[in-house]
Amino acid sequence: MKSSHVIILVITILCMNNGVISSPPEDPVKCTSKNTNCTITNSIGIFPDRSICEAGEVKYPSTEEELISIVATATKNNRKMKAATRYSHSIPKLACPDGKDGLLISTNNLNKVLRVDAEARTITVESGVTLRQIIAEAAEAGLALPYTPYWWGITIGGLMATGAHGSTLWDKGSAVHEYATEIRIVSPSGPEDGYAKVRVLTESDDDNQHLNAVRVSLGVLGVISRHVFYISS
Ligand SMILES: Cc1cc2nc3c(=O)[nH]c(=O)nc-3n(C[C@H](O)[C@H](O)[C@H](O)COP(=O)(O)OP(=O)(O)OC[C@H]3O[C@@H](n4cnc5c(N)ncnc54)[C@H](O)[C@@H]3O)c2cc1C
Repeated sequence: MKSSHVIILVITILCMNNGVISSPPEDPVKCTSKNTNCTITNSIGIFPDRSICEAGEVKYPSTEEELISIVATATKNNRKMKAATRYSHSIPKLACPDGKDGLLISTNNLNKVLRVDAEARTITVESGVTLRQIIAEAAEAGLALPYTPYWWGITIGGLMATGAHGSTLWDKGSAVHEYATEIRIVSPSGPEDGYAKVRVLTESDDDNQHLNAVRVSLGVLGVISRHVFYISS
C-alpha cells in the first residue's frame, strides 16, 4: 500500500472516531404531572444566576381561538403568564412567568406557515414557526431572508420580541422586526371584552406607533399569534 493511501486511511478512521452527532436542545419546559408543576429553562439548561424557573402549568394552543381562551381564563383568574418557545434560546430569564403559580403559553403548536406571497414579497406565519421553516418556505417561492439571525431553531415570535438580527446593509438592515408589516397579538383585557382582546396592528395604523411598540416587546404586551413580514427576492 502506498504511503499516501495509508495517510488517507488513518485520517478517515480518525474522522469516524471523532464524528459529531448533533441533536436539537432538550424541551426547555418540563412538568412532573402532565402539564402542571413545571419548570422552564433556556437552551443551555440554566439561567445566568444558576437557577431555573418554576411555573404552575403549561398550555399548548394550536389555534388563535385556543390562545384567546387561554389568555382570557388566566386573566379572569388573575394569573401571571408568559410566552414560551420550542427551544427557549434567550440566555436571560425572559420566559419566566413570575412565581410558582404562573402560566407558560408555549407556541410549539402555533407552527404553521400560512401564506407566501411571491408578488408582494411577504410571508404570513404563526408565531411558533422556526427560522428553519421560514427559510425553507421562502426558498420554495424563490425568496430569501438576507438579514437572518444565526440559528435555525429560534421562532419568529421569540426573535422579533428580542430584536434579534443577522448582518446586512441591504434594504432596512439586519433586524427582522423592521420588516414586520402586520402583527396579531392577544392581550389581557376587561370583562367587557371577555378578558382577552386580539389586536391587529398594521403599518398603516397611527404612524406605526402600535406596531412599533409590539415589534420588540419582550413578551410583556401579550402573546403574538401571527406575523406578516417582508422577505427578499
Ligand atoms: C448563545 C446565543 C447566541 C445568540 N446569538 C444571537 C445572534 O447572533 N443574533 C441574534 O440576533 N440573536 C442571538 N441570540 C439571541 C436569540 O436570537 C434570541 O434570544 C431569540 O429571542 C431566541 O428566540 P426564541 O424563539 O428561542 O425565543 P425565547 O428565548 O423563548 O423568547 C424570547 C422572548 O420572546 C417572548 N416571546 C416568544 N414568543 C412570543 C410570542 N409569540 N408572543 C409574545 N412574546 C413572545 C418570550 O416570552 C421571551 O420574553 C443568541 C442567543 C444565545 C443563547
